[in-house]
Amino acid sequence: MRKKSFLSLSSPRLDYRNFAGLPGEPELLPPPKALTLHHPGRFRPAKAGLNIGDRVRRGQRLAIYEEQKEGVICPATGTVSAVGPFIGDLGRPYTAVTIAVEPDGEADDESAGAAGSLDLETAGRFFASLPGAPDFSVFFDSETPIRTLLVSGVDADLFVATNQYAVRRWPKEIKKGLSALSEVLSLERSVLALPGDIVQNYASVGATETVGVSPEYPSGIPRLVALAAMGEPLPAGDSMAEAGIAFMTAEAVAAIGRTVGTGRPPAEKIVTVINKDGGKRLVSVVIGTPIRHILDAAGIVVEEGDRIILGGPMTGTAVYSVDHPVTPATDALMIQAGKDIVKTSDYPCINCGECNRACPVNIQVNMLARFLEAGKYEEAEDLYELDACIDCGLCSFVCVSRIPIFQYIRLAKYELNRIRSIEEEEHE
Ligand code: SF4
Ligand code: SF4
Repeated sequence: MRKKSFLSLSSPRLDYRNFAGLPGEPELLPPPKALTLHHPGRFRPAKAGLNIGDRVRRGQRLAIYEEQKEGVICPATGTVSAVGPFIGDLGRPYTAVTIAVEPDGEADDESAGAAGSLDLETAGRFFASLPGAPDFSVFFDSETPIRTLLVSGVDADLFVATNQYAVRRWPKEIKKGLSALSEVLSLERSVLALPGDIVQNYASVGATETVGVSPEYPSGIPRLVALAAMGEPLPAGDSMAEAGIAFMTAEAVAAIGRTVGTGRPPAEKIVTVINKDGGKRLVSVVIGTPIRHILDAAGIVVEEGDRIILGGPMTGTAVYSVDHPVTPATDALMIQAGKDIVKTSDYPCINCGECNRACPVNIQVNMLARFLEAGKYEEAEDLYELDACIDCGLCSFVCVSRIPIFQYIRLAKYELNRIRSIEEEEHE
């Protein structure tokens, strides 16, 4: 496999400032009658430790399977009404747990106890399902020690304002979260990345450094935030953890700070809702809330041919059901009108080179796309640097033949990871 560093960012592109702005305080939506939680992994009924009729309480740690390291903090008190399989994006398997919510039900104090005596194992067991989905798994690999915690106060996609809201709304909580994490994780360095226009206001938030991020898309994409923070590119194909970096969003660190400060883990997720006309608003919803609940509250009617997207316009993924729940990682919900959807085509590549010029890491995308279309994923990686791709979606955005290049890229990365995990398991 060839290793290539990021090359320079090319000319100015789409501008976050033109699209995001801050839509004001979020509207607090009441919990729905039923919530659904998605646990990664195939449903195994014989091994499930959570069954229909079980009582669960807000703040209680739920682990469906015994060996599950990172459980889910239950966002509401109620009764389990369904447990079953769910197939997500790219065919990823999940186990879905639905809870009939009991309004004003009593909370559990298990999380409060955990927050009071924090260590790495407890943080991993209790914090991974907080709003923002902080990933603690990277701290458990002794072969790739983490030296830097990189906290992103910018949003990866256009229109989205969730993390920009978090840095403005919760500076004290971010400070508290950073302090707790630095202690528990023995970090040498913490970097807070912020929109360039506000970076000078945040010297006291508690990070050892702050860094300003350019307002030009795709500078908020995590690997480019890392480039701004570290001053040098990560080697293509290496994960952030392999480069000694743990990446978390500002919302996640604020949620950790709120948990440590109050003993009560927040269960509410800030979601940027982007309407068909591009209008946006923030809502605060309990994790597990079905999308339908948000659409009803926002008065958005989804018509035949419209598209429901989790995430923003460049990197979001379409979902097929308004029953899909908000997860700890759902930063945005976008509804695209059918008439505005640019349909993909089966036109051939005309070698116009637009994708190559748009690619911020200078991949030869027209050639990469040919190999991906043919399902030759390993060759695409070896010859055309699939692993250097930072998942910005600009190639698809500019393609005149409407080839779904970014979808091919995602599928290829997912398939390569899946195949390699299976090979590793067989090898062990
Ligand atoms: S998504 Fe496309 S444009 Fe963006 S880095 Fe990957 S190949 Fe380049
Ligand atoms: S933009 Fe589309 S048509 Fe043009 S070279 Fe790239 S893949 Fe081919």
